[in-house]
Amino acid sequence: MSRTSNAVLSRLTVGALVSLMSAAPAFAQGGTPAKPETWNGNASQVQLSSLERLQTLMDQDTQTHALLAQAMGKVGAHSLREFAKVVKLCSSDTPSDVQGRATPGAIEGEIFFRTADSLVENQSLEKSYEDEINRFRHENRAVDVIAKLTPGFAVIKVQVDPVICIRSNIPMDEAFITFVHELTHFAKMDNLSEIDMLSFKNENEFLMNSVSQKGSEVDAYIAEFRSFIRKEKNRDRLPILAKSLFNDDGLFVGTRGELAKIILKPKSQGGFGYAEDSLKGEYANQLNSSYQREIQERNNIVDGINNLQENIAVDERNHAAYQHNLPIYQEEKDQKSIDEANKALDRLAKLIPGRKAILESDLKEIGKRDARINEYKRRFF
Ligand SMILES: [Zn+2]
Repeated sequence: MSRTSNAVLSRLTVGALVSLMSAAPAFAQGGTPAKPETWNGNASQVQLSSLERLQTLMDQDTQTHALLAQAMGKVGAHSLREFAKVVKLCSSDTPSDVQGRATPGAIEGEIFFRTADSLVENQSLEKSYEDEINRFRHENRAVDVIAKLTPGFAVIKVQVDPVICIRSNIPMDEAFITFVHELTHFAKMDNLSEIDMLSFKNENEFLMNSVSQKGSEVDAYIAEFRSFIRKEKNRDRLPILAKSLFNDDGLFVGTRGELAKIILKPKSQGGFGYAEDSLKGEYANQLNSSYQREIQERNNIVDGINNLQENIAVDERNHAAYQHNLPIYQEEKDQKSIDEANKALDRLAKLIPGRKAILESDLKEIGKRDARINEYKRRFF
């Protein structure tokens, strides 16, 4: 009798979809032109003592204190020394208006097709990937983990090795607010959830959503400006358009939509220039990668369907063979074979309808994916 393997496993790497987020604060010039000391001395690597000075500044305020704790918790760092491997100096080719940058890290992606065995034996697919996830966590490398489950398949994504960089030649007070900005991205941003590109009417809607989502630029600038105002004791040096959105205590009194518009607005109009700068081309990139992902996932489901159909055919042949053989075993009084046949028949009686149910839901999923692919083609490609 032939058997097919129950474990149908297909792997693919999910590409990184997120762009870098950088702080480009446009503060008005202060009165004194004297050149202050840089935050990290002239060291070529981030010094623990420099980080400790940043930590002291963050500890003075409950919100920034909590922010650092959240960021450290994200990579499982128990001390500033452990967290230090996340913080680097920005490379020398960093554009002059970029003070810092949070790079979310590579996405390690796997697709696991749900196996008929796991359905029958009620195993969790997330469970089967847990060892791998824990390995990253123990090495202080994992940032975020997301699992997407449909009846037919599961995607589990782990994001690893994030980096925060701070420009080397800025003074400590500027490094501090840059650190607050980048830590906000680092600690709060969800880089793994897939954006539904079909939900945006146009590029502007997409960009407004990009900067407004949790932990993105709106949150980072609120945190940064809040720290800046508390340090300065007033909001006099805030970028002119942002001034009315805060009070002198550093409280955000505007709306997120207003701040999002300022962040996207060209620099020539007093905005922060994100639409023409770091988010330029992002809409087209996201459309392309989302469309490709849709097609790839559809093809994975088709592979799953083909495997299921083969497995079901083998199961049904096996079932028929056992049923055919059982009376013969009984006639021969071959108890061992009778027991084996009954056990196999029981298992197949569960397995076949289980596999057929998955097949049915996979076929429905294909219909949904085809509709979405057609919608992409109709609107964009
Ligand atoms: Zn930013």
